[in-house]
Amino acid sequence: MKKLLIPFLFCTLLVSCNTERSARSGDPIDRRVDSVLQLMTVEEKAGQLTLYTSDWDVTGPSIRAGYKEDIKAGKVGAVFNAYGAKYTRELQEIAVKETRLGIPLLFGYDVIHGHKTIFPIPLGEASSWDLEAIEKSARIAAEEASADGLHWTFAPMVDISRDPRWGRVMEGAGEDTYLGSLIGAARVKGFQGNGISEINSVAACVKHFAAYGGSQAGRDYHTVDMSDRVLREVYLPPYKAAVDAGAATVMTSFNELDGTPATANKYLMNDILRNEWGFQGFVVTDYTSIMEMLNHGNVADSADAAAATIKSGVDMDMQAGFFQYELPQLVKDGKVSEAELNTAVSRVLRIKFQMGLFDDPYRYSDEQREKSTIGKPEFKAASRDVARKSIVLLKNSGVLPLSKSVKTIAVIGPLGKSKLDMIGAWSAAGKGDSAVSILDGIKAKVPSARVLYAKGCNVNDDSTKYFAEAVSIARLADVVIMSVGEAAWMSGEAASRGILDLPGAQQKLVEEIHKTGKPVVVLLSNGRPLTIPWIDKNIPAVVETWYLGTQAGHAIADVLFGDYNPSGKLPVTFPYSVGQVPIFYSAKNTGRPRDPNNKYTSKYLDIPNEPLYPFGYGLSYTTFEYGEVNLSAGDVSANQNLSVTCRITNNGSIAGTETVQLYIRDMVGSVTRPVKELKGFQQVTLGPGEFKDVVFALTPEDLSFYRKDMTFGPEAGKFKVFVGSNSRDVKEAEFELTNEGNSKMEFQVKATKKDL
Ligand code: BGC
Repeated sequence: MKKLLIPFLFCTLLVSCNTERSARSGDPIDRRVDSVLQLMTVEEKAGQLTLYTSDWDVTGPSIRAGYKEDIKAGKVGAVFNAYGAKYTRELQEIAVKETRLGIPLLFGYDVIHGHKTIFPIPLGEASSWDLEAIEKSARIAAEEASADGLHWTFAPMVDISRDPRWGRVMEGAGEDTYLGSLIGAARVKGFQGNGISEINSVAACVKHFAAYGGSQAGRDYHTVDMSDRVLREVYLPPYKAAVDAGAATVMTSFNELDGTPATANKYLMNDILRNEWGFQGFVVTDYTSIMEMLNHGNVADSADAAAATIKSGVDMDMQAGFFQYELPQLVKDGKVSEAELNTAVSRVLRIKFQMGLFDDPYRYSDEQREKSTIGKPEFKAASRDVARKSIVLLKNSGVLPLSKSVKTIAVIGPLGKSKLDMIGAWSAAGKGDSAVSILDGIKAKVPSARVLYAKGCNVNDDSTKYFAEAVSIARLADVVIMSVGEAAWMSGEAASRGILDLPGAQQKLVEEIHKTGKPVVVLLSNGRPLTIPWIDKNIPAVVETWYLGTQAGHAIADVLFGDYNPSGKLPVTFPYSVGQVPIFYSAKNTGRPRDPNNKYTSKYLDIPNEPLYPFGYGLSYTTFEYGEVNLSAGDVSANQNLSVTCRITNNGSIAGTETVQLYIRDMVGSVTRPVKELKGFQQVTLGPGEFKDVVFALTPEDLSFYRKDMTFGPEAGKFKVFVGSNSRDVKEAEFELTNEGNSKMEFQVKATKKDL
């Protein structure tokens, strides 16, 4: 009997659902969501809250085969790691044609820095400080991904990270809250374009909420423990900026925070994200993170884990399957109310409606569009453009730029010929073989030069057996370009390192080549700050190239031969030694600031306090002179803006672009304040001899912080303001903030009290 009934029911309900869909297609989304919700069983609702990986590219333990069976059974609402117009259509057909209600799937993927045309890794791209170029790269990623069947990207990653041992520092915008917030918002705007209902947009997913970058000792997945003040002041603003930019979804983080894993953290999801920030989209867990709470030890079993998660305000379970298995019984037992379930399901359905998937479930699965969109020449040009802007010149004592009439060049190093490494970790559907290697980029730039190549050593072992060959080609060359660093897999997820030196025998190789007396340029490819004091001291030219994506080799050659004057600035501090980590520019002064003549001050016995390269640092082939810092007033009330002006002059002989940076220091506060905080930056392009008066408006918000009582606002007193080319080399001025007639001293409500 049952066997006969099911096909009958399936047909009638599918028809009625589809009919209802078209009848209501002009209705506001909420009514349409409710109409679907009313048809759903508790099992189907649990299915909508379930995200499974396809059989490709798993980033963790794949706990299920047979996800297609699950789709057919209505147990899955979204799938990730499946892309391609044809493949996504095939899976979508199962959901639409073979399930009782025909609710379309959402296809997600980690489109982190480009989809098939790969852009620089996010940390690299952040070095451009060029918000327009960053937004454009996310826009292009969305164009390609959406043409490849995808609706949803698990990006941007906006975790502030101040510990370069953590491999995931490559996925974010570095150490600074202000810069990270602007970049996070730019990426959301790029991915979502004119809105997620547009066919060429993908829904963004801000991750990993929250404070994942604060993992202890830089070890991935490790515990996070920080004060509420640091959480709110340093770590949360980039997520908030991304939410304010309209991000459709948010992903939880793997870590615990104050003893509760983020995945079931009501303070984060309900109190802050939804109640304080007004977030309307849905929240997905990270990969199996509901299951991982059994290891964290805050829940006893899978039912407990599922209940704690949904009750904390999380809507979708990535890959654990706990929502699918446990929610129906939890509802029956009254441990989770159907209203709680409905809330989560409506959030998911709403996004599907907004993306037009109920109107046309196949709208993203169009093979024609896939063919005509992916890999367009203008996408490659944009990738090369931002790649050049992301390169940071760390040292140059006159070797660069190279002359195009150079006769013999030796390219030496284990990354020189690599294509795959150039696209870096998290390179989505990008293919290494479509990338331009450093060697090929140089050959293309100077076709008449003799370009020799030797690997010299492997990236990550101690063998010196190829050294002799490398030394012999170096001797034949007019200049040696050394390509060293980390293999792409050495940063990203599960790629923490305890030592930040060049891995393997690479440092020794550089020393051997240096002994030949030839001019050497070191090109670094890496996903995190490295400790390279010997190289900085001994090698005349050092260039940070990160992993620059599909056009890496061309972008690097553009800079090496002066077709592009480098303009990148570090978004993260480069330590002198791993012993300084965590190290960041916006530190506190301490009660005993370093005094070289006093042992009992805050310093090391064996290493300096100063980093090798400070935050915001990067050279150009020209030089910029900074004039005095002029303020519009010496006293300012908290109702007013202060205008800060500084004259920047290009006193070199070629045109160049400079990122002028503005920092402040609040000298006395009800709680101590950092010695510097970035509050603005502007990029100026100046011809030789040209100057510009760069003007910043410092607002009351810029002077605000979480005061002693956790209200957010400014406090009267003395401030310093700094303008410079990096966080170390600055000119300064002082002003006083008065509280005269000013209502603005309290312009934001008190932070939600933590529910202990
Ligand atoms: C990562 C996420 C990623 C997810 C899906 C996890 O392991 O932490 O950043 O989005 O896998 O691939």
